[in-house]
Amino acid sequence: MGEQAESDAVMSTVKSTVKSTVKSTAKGDVKNALKNTLWIGRVRVREDGRAREQVVRVWTDGAAPGPAGGVTLEWIDDPFQRAREIASAGEDPAEADPWSLARTATTHRQVSLEDGDCELAPPVRPSKIIGVGRNYRAHAAELGNEVPSAPLLFFKPPSCLLASGQAIALPRGYERIDFEGELVVVIGRRARAVQAEDAWTHVAGYLLGDDVSCRDLQRSDGQWTRAKGFDGFGPVSGFVRMTAPGWRLPVDETRLQTFVNDEPRQDASLAAMVFDIPTLIAHISECMTLEPGDLIFTGTPEGVGPLSTGQVVRVVSSGALELAPLVNPVV
Ligand code: ZN
Repeated sequence: MGEQAESDAVMSTVKSTVKSTVKSTAKGDVKNALKNTLWIGRVRVREDGRAREQVVRVWTDGAAPGPAGGVTLEWIDDPFQRAREIASAGEDPAEADPWSLARTATTHRQVSLEDGDCELAPPVRPSKIIGVGRNYRAHAAELGNEVPSAPLLFFKPPSCLLASGQAIALPRGYERIDFEGELVVVIGRRARAVQAEDAWTHVAGYLLGDDVSCRDLQRSDGQWTRAKGFDGFGPVSGFVRMTAPGWRLPVDETRLQTFVNDEPRQDASLAAMVFDIPTLIAHISECMTLEPGDLIFTGTPEGVGPLSTGQVVRVVSSGALELAPLVNPVV
């Protein structure tokens, strides 16, 4: 197969996977559907020969909005940026809450992904992305590592973010580059030295993520900056599922699954995390201020494996928290 034919084949697999994912989740969860579920994304719009990104809001009855289109996107001001500005101005911190800002924002106009000159971009522009290493016992063991006694943190650069549907371009010349399906926490209110019991009030919502990792460099560099930091090594869902400040994610009723070419590779309960979400937020914010829109990749369960050109990686959640699916071809 020529390169173009190959990439066309991959893209058609992605499109049909996205469509079937959207259809099945919409059908299966109707009885548990929450009314007025709020999602935030970003779209890249081309107008008059110039491209720009804008923040969009979507309301659903609980089902995830799919990149397959057919949803109305409301163009609003960026609630995360506004929350950072309010927090920086020293105003009432309760006002600096992306959830409330997103719900009440004025719709400038409506756009559609079917417009043709409109495509999904990563749904947030964080000031930083914190990763958590070895946060599932069975995953630490599969790579021959001990579970750390405190959360093991690393950074991923914001430039690594990739939207669902876009291709993960493997850098050449490395032996093993792995997928790592993960739950990603999106920070809401600014968090500085928060206690674990207050941590849920600093969460704005959730994404699915893939913490793509070059094992060669992870071993040879010692530091993980290059191993985790290539452009495109941070694919995330197309939309943040926004949750009210203080809402506690029922981790024991939520599963995370990763498929490669529709073969199940990872399937774990979020309750299997070694350090839970409040502990992570408390531990990180003791060291550095978490800003609205910052991301925490909370670690990957067992079942990671090498990526190769032509594959399609899909990360989904099921159970209590339905998230926007993440689907990326590998080139
Ligand atoms: Zn990871």
